[in-house]
Amino acid sequence: MSKKRSRNAVPFAALTHVGNVRALNEDSLLALPPLYAVADGLGGHESGEVASALAIDTLRDHAPKHPDAVALARAVQSANQTVISGIVKGLGREGMGTTMTAVMLESGRAVFAQVGDSRAYLLRNRRLSQVTEDHSVVGEMMRSGHLTAEEARRHPQRSVITRALGSDPNLNVDTFDVTILRGDRLLVCTDGLSTMVEDAEIEQILSSSLDPNHAAEKLVQAALDAGGNDNISVIVVDVNEEQGANAAALKAMKQKKPRSKLWLWALIWTALVAAAVAGVYFLTMNYIEERAYLNNQDGIIYMHKGVPGEILGFNLTLASAPTVVEFDLLAPEFQASIGLEPTFENIDYAWAELEMMVERSPLYFDSAERLIYDGLLAEESSDDAAENGDGDSDGDSESSSSDDEEGDRP
Ligand code: MG
Repeated sequence: MSKKRSRNAVPFAALTHVGNVRALNEDSLLALPPLYAVADGLGGHESGEVASALAIDTLRDHAPKHPDAVALARAVQSANQTVISGIVKGLGREGMGTTMTAVMLESGRAVFAQVGDSRAYLLRNRRLSQVTEDHSVVGEMMRSGHLTAEEARRHPQRSVITRALGSDPNLNVDTFDVTILRGDRLLVCTDGLSTMVEDAEIEQILSSSLDPNHAAEKLVQAALDAGGNDNISVIVVDVNEEQGANAAALKAMKQKKPRSKLWLWALIWTALVAAAVAGVYFLTMNYIEERAYLNNQDGIIYMHKGVPGEILGFNLTLASAPTVVEFDLLAPEFQASIGLEPTFENIDYAWAELEMMVERSPLYFDSAERLIYDGLLAEESSDDAAENGDGDSDGDSESSSSDDEEGDRP
């Protein structure tokens, strides 16, 4: 069991083990803060260990100084070129290849570059989540919902990967950019761990081991206990204050919280205001619908449903129709009263008031208009509304009656 321990303040552990079955360890790893990577050499007897070592060396030489997902992906592409040309130069054998999972972390963020089925996990608050996606046959089947994690672990094609360094010059590299907090723990590992040990057990080990070295040792031991069918490589990195645990990130998180609460309050207030507006509208409409008022338009008294005026551009008069009553024939006091556009509790009260005005206006009583007014009353009693506004102009006949949609007078 070879072991690389941190010599500085950054708490990390990197461990690789040949396993119980293989004769050769084809995994390579790199732990050079802030850069950490594993590479799982492929090809069995076809120089997998050469491919993984070439890839890790190139990554180390080409990686950016600080976390930068694009630059890190470019370094992985360089590693790919090195493996491809390594075959040409005779450094390895045809068919060799390697996975690569690389991560850089600093100042509250971690960037990942990923090809193949080696993995990166993040442990936060004792909960494990897989950051990377496996580029493998079973990985694709799991993502499309055709396989559960447990089925994938036992699938005969579980080690068949769909993407690796060493064959395609235009290699596609996945990248991930994750905010990290103090107390987070990162795990980068080859499939010698993840196919042998279930995520739940990995989570339990990472959660229960204070020291990253102990965590790494326990993980490797768990893979060996489960059979150790493959080479096992693990890197455990604890996110401390320096690396990014980072007051700035925490402060940003803390500052965001009140903002999100503000949004909640804004939402609640908006809902309350909307409910209040709806309530007021409902009550207003109920109030208006019942009301009626009278006014004078070009010498004719009009009956209106609603109330005079408007609110916020909304006309409060719902319906209007002329009566047969002429303004000029009303007594002066009633003309003054009509000028005030009197409002009534309902349309019946309005009609009663208008009838009273007519009855008490001498001009109506002293002229033939009275006949028309009587006729109007007769029509009212038969509930047949008179619509014709100038029906009283002839004075010798009843105003022609017509249908009123409302059934109201006039
Ligand atoms: Mg492997």
